[in-house]
Amino acid sequence: MIQTLEQRLVELRDLRRRVNAEIRKVQGAIDDQRPRKRRNGEKPPCGTEQGYHWHRRQGEPADQGCRDAHASYERERAAQRRRSARGWDVAS
Ligand SMILES: [Zn+2]
Repeated sequence: MIQTLEQRLVELRDLRRRVNAEIRKVQGAIDDQRPRKRRNGEKPPCGTEQGYHWHRRQGEPADQGCRDAHASYERERAAQRRRSARGWDVAS
């Protein structure tokens, strides 16, 4: 099929429209995440890993809920490290 320049232009414009739509979608998703992370001075809820680090940044001792959350976070990370270490052992 022979494509005219006009047809190609229509295709390219359609492509640009779809690319722009996806850029807006991805940018919107990034913007949705950013304010929660970047907004300073706002305290994350207690009993979360983020709460624990917030206490640390404030230079104050973390409460029990935050310490528990941090401990289980660290436990989970250590377990993941062990799992991936086993994975490497099996692979080698
Ligand atoms: Zn706390």
